[in-house]
Amino acid sequence: MARVYNFYAGPATLPVEALQEAQKNLVDYEGSGLSLIETSHRSKEYDAVHTATIDLIKELLGVPSGYSVLLLGGGASMQFGMVPMNLMPQGGSCDMTLTGSWAKKALADAKKLGTVHLVYDGGDSAFTTLPDPASVQSSANSSYLHITSNETIEGVQWKRFPQTEAPLVADMSSDILSRPLSVDQFGIIYAGAQKNLGPSGVTIVIIRDDLLERAPDSLPAYLNYRTHAKSGSLYNTPPVFSIYMVKLVLEWLQRQGGLGAMAERNRKKAALLYDAIETSGSFYRCPVDPRYRSDMNVVFRLPSEDLEKRFVTEAGATGMIGLKGHRSVGGIRASIYNAMPEEGVSKLVSFMSSFAQAHA
Ligand SMILES: *Cc1c(COP(=O)(O)O)cnc(C)c1O
Repeated sequence: MARVYNFYAGPATLPVEALQEAQKNLVDYEGSGLSLIETSHRSKEYDAVHTATIDLIKELLGVPSGYSVLLLGGGASMQFGMVPMNLMPQGGSCDMTLTGSWAKKALADAKKLGTVHLVYDGGDSAFTTLPDPASVQSSANSSYLHITSNETIEGVQWKRFPQTEAPLVADMSSDILSRPLSVDQFGIIYAGAQKNLGPSGVTIVIIRDDLLERAPDSLPAYLNYRTHAKSGSLYNTPPVFSIYMVKLVLEWLQRQGGLGAMAERNRKKAALLYDAIETSGSFYRCPVDPRYRSDMNVVFRLPSEDLEKRFVTEAGATGMIGLKGHRSVGGIRASIYNAMPEEGVSKLVSFMSSFAQAHA
């Protein structure tokens, strides 16, 4: 089997052990005589997977009591609307931090539903830096303050989080479960699975229970968090296969030593790349403020767009794919989520060194 090193931003590389286990079980799920994806979502087989997935998320993240873990459809993008619909009363307001492309989308939806105070606007710095968390405060009567913990396209990542009066809501799609954190600092954490947790199709929402009470009854059932909290995320047919894959990835994560061990490995992988950039004699250049460089999505530029194209093509020819930066910003982006092995990063670093030598 010749697996490439996959640097795509999402859907993204998954642990090969998890893929193999799914393959082994695809046709005959653990001797049940049928596949899990043709089993009723009310069956005992699926129920065990569903419950185990929620329990693993709680265990790995240390979710305290008083929070619910929901497994929803619609992607993280649906949360851009669900958060304001559920948390912000009509005519109400919220605070947002504009830190990059994903925050911008969240902002656009929130604006349709109420008044948004921008407490930080990174547009002037082309989203290459973040505010000091201590300087971020919510405004009076704000329903919540929204941040994007890791901007997948621009490669900036909050290293510490603001302490705010209003509940803190975080889009953690591209760095959830990459490091330990204190869930009790947050009102809501949400994340699409396809960056760091599994395939696309399922979105994790961790919500403080008192916030469930804010949802207006006028909301359609699916769009109301309370519907899902009450039914244990079995109000309708959940994305069963995606949830099963997430469970396998979480079990792998646990075998790796959990979030502490994973964070250490992630920092080490990111440091290898940033060091390679910094010591390249300005052949490679990372535009991001060193204080906020992402451990998940490492972005950098080469001396010309032409060289960037060649870099992507030549890397691809040696079995490293997905290195092209997002079309909106250009350049190179190496997404190095939990499942990217250190050998993949080392291989990229040595490729970078020989490419720079050949073209400097
Ligand atoms: C990918 C991504 C999204 C969008 O996720 P979908 O599941 O495609 O809706 C939102 N926010 C961040 C930070 C992302 O990386």
